[in-house]
Amino acid sequence: MSLSSVRKAFPALQQQINGQPLIYLDNAATTQKPEQVIRAVEDFYRQDNANVHRGAHQLSERATTAFENARAEVKGFINAASEKEIIWTRGTTEGINLIAQSFARPRLQPGDEIILTELEHHANIVPWQIVAEQTGALIKVIPIKENGDLNLEKYTELLSERTRIVSLTHISNTLGTINPVAGIIRQAKKFGATVVIDGAQAVSHLEVDVQRLGCDFYLFSGHKLFAPTGIGVLYGRQDLLEAMPPWQAGGEMIRKVSFTGTSYNELPFKFEAGTPNISGAIGLAEAIRFLSRLDRKKLAAHERRLMQRAIELCSDIPGFTRIGSPTACASILSFQLNSHHQQDVGLMLDQQGIAVRTGHHCAMPLMEKLKLPGTVRASFCFYNTLEEVERFAQALQLIATGGSFHTADTVTPDSLF
Ligand code: PMP
Repeated sequence: MSLSSVRKAFPALQQQINGQPLIYLDNAATTQKPEQVIRAVEDFYRQDNANVHRGAHQLSERATTAFENARAEVKGFINAASEKEIIWTRGTTEGINLIAQSFARPRLQPGDEIILTELEHHANIVPWQIVAEQTGALIKVIPIKENGDLNLEKYTELLSERTRIVSLTHISNTLGTINPVAGIIRQAKKFGATVVIDGAQAVSHLEVDVQRLGCDFYLFSGHKLFAPTGIGVLYGRQDLLEAMPPWQAGGEMIRKVSFTGTSYNELPFKFEAGTPNISGAIGLAEAIRFLSRLDRKKLAAHERRLMQRAIELCSDIPGFTRIGSPTACASILSFQLNSHHQQDVGLMLDQQGIAVRTGHHCAMPLMEKLKLPGTVRASFCFYNTLEEVERFAQALQLIATGGSFHTADTVTPDSLF
């Protein structure tokens, strides 16, 4: 499939905003959805809608089959060893909270250490702060270098017999840093620590193999992977999940309930209390099927080209300052434009139909470290085009130089590559 036909699969990209063709550069916040994902969700509600598991009727059987096939699809996507290791969640945030409360809380003792990094999203900070308060454990933080890489020498110094958990992001949502997680995991394992990887930004850019990485837990959100919101995945090593108590309680997660005692269901259902997000799981499986038909190396190469071109063009803009320039970087560009508040830049770009994100990106400790109130963030996806990057840079140039916008020529999706 050519890149232009890949783009055509995303209906939301074919619209105009403020009279301009939409240029969607907010992919780190959430990705657009391909037609086939939208259709899979719609088809479920049109034809198969029923609750899953235990149903005696055909619709329930069809819903259950699609739901469990989706789990198998995710297992293959990240190369988990078993479907029992795939737990449905609402997203990355819920997954980290589950690990903090069900895995870490019963194990942590006062003085035990949890290592995080300065690059973390609040979702990988606050659940650990809560569990640290509950248990008396301490949080240690790997600092970053000036370019936004992790300072790995400092990581080595922080590791000790007291380290119980190392939890870090695979890719920074703010600076784009691709962390060398395989090496980080190997080092943590020498001290017997459990490693949690926040894959929210990674699964759409990198091919992830949890067994090869050797992590204990890996988390991601469907909505950043071309799937619906409200569905996510917690991967956990089976032996760890078996040993963990349930987190939420109710239907689905039990085997037998009586007022004298209750026994819990087997994996993965032990962690899936209540009616799950069935259509979300089906949509996520469809998104994975969509991706698996594409050449992911080619997509990644295109994203690198977009990022390089954006950096080249923006570097010539007066007052443009890129925030961070990590050695290995995903297609996420954080910047400031001198004397322009980031929010104003976002609003002016929106007038041109260009969607970016502004603010602290749920990474306030990182902003504090960088001594910045926030940044403008443009995040590129394989469905973006070089022409879109050029139009984005032109719009920034105009904002930087106080020029006025003119009505853009009409651009059809076909002319974008
Ligand atoms: N971690 C990272 C690195 C993220 O970028 C995000 C989403 N911005 C999250 C965690 C939280 O994901 P969600 O809101 O889908 O739970």
